[in-house]
Amino acid sequence: MTDFDYDLFVIGAGSGGVRASRIAASHGARVAVAEEFRVGGTCVIRGCVPKKLLVYASHFAHSLLDAPTYGWTLGETSFDWNKLRDFVASDVDRLERAYTSTLDSNKVEHFHERAVVAGPNTVRLASGREITARVILIAVGAWPVMPEIDGAEHCITSNEVFHLPELPKRIVIQGAGYIALEFAGVFNALGSAVTVVNRSDKILRGYDHDLTDRLLPILQGRGIEFAFNHPIEQVTRQADGSLLVRTAGGKVLEADAVLVATGRKPKTDGLGLENAGIALGAGGEVPVDEYNRTSCPSIYAVGDVTDRVQLTPVAIREGHAFADTVFGNMPRTTAYDHIPSAVFTQPPIAAVGLTEEQARLVHGQVKVFKSDFRPMQNMFSSVAERGYYKLVVDPVTDVVLGVHMLGPDSPEILQAAAIAVKAGLTKAQFDATVALHPSMAEELVLMR
Ligand code: NDP
Repeated sequence: MTDFDYDLFVIGAGSGGVRASRIAASHGARVAVAEEFRVGGTCVIRGCVPKKLLVYASHFAHSLLDAPTYGWTLGETSFDWNKLRDFVASDVDRLERAYTSTLDSNKVEHFHERAVVAGPNTVRLASGREITARVILIAVGAWPVMPEIDGAEHCITSNEVFHLPELPKRIVIQGAGYIALEFAGVFNALGSAVTVVNRSDKILRGYDHDLTDRLLPILQGRGIEFAFNHPIEQVTRQADGSLLVRTAGGKVLEADAVLVATGRKPKTDGLGLENAGIALGAGGEVPVDEYNRTSCPSIYAVGDVTDRVQLTPVAIREGHAFADTVFGNMPRTTAYDHIPSAVFTQPPIAAVGLTEEQARLVHGQVKVFKSDFRPMQNMFSSVAERGYYKLVVDPVTDVVLGVHMLGPDSPEILQAAAIAVKAGLTKAQFDATVALHPSMAEELVLMR
């Protein structure tokens, strides 16, 4: 072991890399991590965390509209994008400091420069220095995909959207997945005119159709325009600085910003994995086994770079399992079933387990229970939107195979429901649970 500079060298200080570093160090390993950008990774620096703060900020739009109904008299209100943007940036700074101090307190050495793989036990830093390690962990994450667009240089991705110099009056968003629809909701609530353009006529592929079919008209009702089958072909800058967007379907749209959110691919370009004999997968991902080990026995990979499930809590679990396995003598794998997920649209959707379509493929017959309700908070609101919950049940065993929710706070509620689904509870056990009244969540135990 002492022949190497470190027991573990981690490339990438995001959610997976930091967790792996910390746990490996706690098992006694001598650990170093290299990060070319900022400690914290996508989730903390330019993903989940700052996005959620923008979502919170945008909720005030409707709360302010509804406040007079509940007796509040408000003075003139206004919104300042720069103030919000700077507040979000300062919270990101705070979190980066917290992540850095986690590394420090666990005696993980960190290098603030790019590192690439130079061999099975060697990494090369941007400075040219070579460092050896018994084990190397690749945790470099993923990067936004920019499709072929003439004028792509005028477009931004989720990397840049948090730093806009001003709130765009008009924004065109390409894609209809997580990022596109979450930002469509944010900019719509903050006052921008939002047009979502997508290559197909589907939103949020992978979520239960009953939910997405209900979500779409709600988003349209809030004023978000959708142009389906209209992928962007060309973006040009006009004399007044605004952008002209032409779609393959022949639409011409004017905008002040164009956000492209068309998926994220593993950030493996130039990472030098070939120097360790590792062949990348078709999407540029690092193939690994269930213990996160690559084809090179001394190199492992976790998180988005492996393109299994691109979610922070999954990367964290993979990083933890890797460290326990390799440095804690506790071989552990990550379970990929029953992973809860949410899309922070307005209203949000949240789900765990099988969609009705997936359940039919696996189980043949399924029983479906639905609740289509008006959330109490929308009763006197400027938004008359309905909530919708759905349980997918195995008719033979009565086990709840999937829970799907559309409505305010559904991600907060779903986490608890995910425990029940993970535990394999039956519909009868849901029914035997007394409702918590008045709440939206009680619908989960009242579906008959
Ligand atoms: P998604 O995979 O969610 O959506 C991609 C969208 O882009 C789809 O609408 C797809 O269209 C479209 N698209 C894909 N490729 C092209 C292309 N070449 N040209 C035109 N359109 C294209 O990706 P996101 O970028 O929104 O998010 C990336 C990942 O980040 C997610 O998969 C998720 O794992 C993670 N994430 C999770 C969040 C959460 O948990 N709340 C929030 C944000 C991100 P179509 O469906 O029609 O094929």
